[in-house]
Amino acid sequence: MRSVDVVEDAFILCDAGRISAVGRMRDLDPLDGDVEELDGSGCAAIPGLVDCHTHAVFAGSRVEEFELRSGGATYEELHAAGGGILSTVRATRAAGEEGLADALALHRSWMLASGTTTFEAKSGYGLDRDTELAMLHVVREAGGSPTWLGAHAVPSEFADADAYLDFALAEVLPEAATIAEAADVFLERGAFDAAQARRYLEACREAGLRLRLHADQFTEAGGVPLAIELGAVSVDHLEATGPDGVRALAQSDVAAVLLPVAAQFLDRPMPPGRALVDEGAVVALATDFNPGSAFCESLPLVVALACTQMQTAPRGSPRRVHRERRTRPRPSGPGWASRAGLRGRHRPARRLRLALPGLPPRGKPRRQDHPWRHAHGIIGPCPVASSAAAARSSSATSTST
Ligand SMILES: [Zn+2]
Repeated sequence: MRSVDVVEDAFILCDAGRISAVGRMRDLDPLDGDVEELDGSGCAAIPGLVDCHTHAVFAGSRVEEFELRSGGATYEELHAAGGGILSTVRATRAAGEEGLADALALHRSWMLASGTTTFEAKSGYGLDRDTELAMLHVVREAGGSPTWLGAHAVPSEFADADAYLDFALAEVLPEAATIAEAADVFLERGAFDAAQARRYLEACREAGLRLRLHADQFTEAGGVPLAIELGAVSVDHLEATGPDGVRALAQSDVAAVLLPVAAQFLDRPMPPGRALVDEGAVVALATDFNPGSAFCESLPLVVALACTQMQTAPRGSPRRVHRERRTRPRPSGPGWASRAGLRGRHRPARRLRLALPGLPPRGKPRRQDHPWRHAHGIIGPCPVASSAAAARSSSATSTST
């Protein structure tokens, strides 16, 4: 995890969106045909980053809520007062599929500027059939990995969580399972308890979805043992996880996805990242990009927080945003882990997903006020700009760094 191979004065030769050769510039033979060169001199080409936990499809703003929170209101108080997730639900329902696609396109442009070339995004701001399915559609259309977060909150038109789950599992799951790659649940006081989460997740697993959980964000409410028992892909947040949970995760192959920006925004303790790493757990970092508790799309900032607030080794942190977990066979379809792995190495035949520190998007001047500055001292010597443009090239492209 801590070893990073660095090739100085290197080239990456690409053809039709795939890496065809990697090496030192002096070993690059003359190229025939239509070759387009991206000059990355002085930059470091790193694998495009993978954000495995986002809520990037949303409409509206939570700016007034931020002001309330700044005045002392807690996350749970805002939620109970109809703010929080439910205020974004109202705006997201009103946006329509086209509006949501536009919003995601904007958010994707921010993510690309921060070097995220592969992303997961959840539904969960619709909580009705049409909006939940529209959210999943726009994620898939944008090339992301859609997760059905049907159990995110209980919308106000339902009497309680069980009544809402009756609806969601009967009316939304059958079609959601044809679009999404995974299902997710918010297991927390005020949202869904462990019994309700189990019911939801078992139904989703039965429908062919892989499982993820938001758990231990505020309280240890049984999310970690449930994730392990059900064979979930990941359990995410873990700010409240104690030593027993850390040990249990370390003895499982459930990935611990840590979201330090959310902890920072909500003034929560940081997840026990150092302990999880030391115990041998599978650890990944993600943004939790959402309008309320983590309005931040920057994985470089996440990496910096992981290093400064969770004491994870600098050289290990970038790797943790490149892959979510150890690869293992999936029951159906291409697994998230293998998708991440494809983007995590510069090797011939790999699909091209690069971030080029210091190289601005084509036609844009170099700028210093870039989000990559957060990881400046960790990843490379330059302020960093992404270049997903290289990945879009259909002709042969060589990139020198
Ligand atoms: Zn989340």
